[in-house]
Amino acid sequence: MWRKKSGFRALRWKSSEYKKEGPIVQPSITLQDVYSARQRIQGLAYRTPVIESQYLSKIMGTEIFLKLENYQVTGSFKIRGAANKIKSLSGIEKKHGVVTVSSGNHGRAVAYVCQKTGSHAVIVLSEAVPQNKRDAIQELGAEMIVHGPTADEAMDYADRLQTQRALTMVHPFDDPFVIAGQGTIGLEIVEDYPQVDTVLVPLSGGGLMGGIALAMKSMNPGIRTIGVSMEKGAAMIESLKAGRIVDIVEEHTLADALAGGLNPDNRYSFKLIQQNLDESLLVSEEEIAEAMAFCLNKHHMIVEGGAAVGIAALLSGKVRQPGKHVAVVVSGANVNTSTLFKVADKNYSSPKN
Ligand SMILES: *Cc1c(COP(=O)(O)O)cnc(C)c1O
Repeated sequence: MWRKKSGFRALRWKSSEYKKEGPIVQPSITLQDVYSARQRIQGLAYRTPVIESQYLSKIMGTEIFLKLENYQVTGSFKIRGAANKIKSLSGIEKKHGVVTVSSGNHGRAVAYVCQKTGSHAVIVLSEAVPQNKRDAIQELGAEMIVHGPTADEAMDYADRLQTQRALTMVHPFDDPFVIAGQGTIGLEIVEDYPQVDTVLVPLSGGGLMGGIALAMKSMNPGIRTIGVSMEKGAAMIESLKAGRIVDIVEEHTLADALAGGLNPDNRYSFKLIQQNLDESLLVSEEEIAEAMAFCLNKHHMIVEGGAAVGIAALLSGKVRQPGKHVAVVVSGANVNTSTLFKVADKNYSSPKN
């Protein structure tokens, strides 16, 4: 059988670590992997701008820069990890195609990369994924399957399809290639804003924060990493507190891109976050709405809920003693216009479950 569970390819990096029996030693992801990722994704993902937010700098009394992944191809940073993974596949894996599960943005990125590289993509979504994100995936020619009320159930189904149809799993966060791809954001922040001493990053499965923290701390170990999640269903933060992966109840949230649990057999992202995250913060639905409205009104930028949590943390005063040079990752733009209008109107109230 040539087919293996996701993560297997990574083990080939250090074959001495691969044991047939007993626990598999986790291969580590290095800064070099992030540089390799950058080479691979060039031509597919943009180098996005890093700009100062004069407004936030003024309000906070310290320098605040924004890394604008809301302007990334497919409307979110997810293209970086997806491109790095898919471009690393073998010929036969590319021929059989890939499968993934997604809260929307990752599925869209995988669909886009497959369209560009000529592979078949099967995208499994839960019923909770908003219509705008479903439409975008279908427009890219991917095979879209809506299965189950939660991301966890969609993931189980994707796992089954992977085996049945000999597809390669492109996990949204728990994959060394995906993590290294997201880490390229960290390289760009340090290169474009070398004074950076603090970075605020949206936190869900931890591929984004894990990759960025790995890259930035490798370049400058003094950089403080702060992960931000929404109060409703913060799986990673709950798991960090418990010291192990815990189940959370998935709730409806403005930050739909951050929804979903961690896989109980998580191999990479949880440990990476445990090792590299300095602080974590939670923001409320109202604070997220306010941050989205801030982006629209002050910067004329459309920023989705999950991408606005870093700005929400700053505006709400929850970041204690922010550094002198703060970078905030604005991770995506894919919000329904109706939601955006409600938020912009300030008529927004937290949705009831
Ligand atoms: C996926 C996503 C995140 C979170 O990334 P993780 O790797 O799951 O932590 C943040 N913002 C947006 C817009 C996303 O699509």
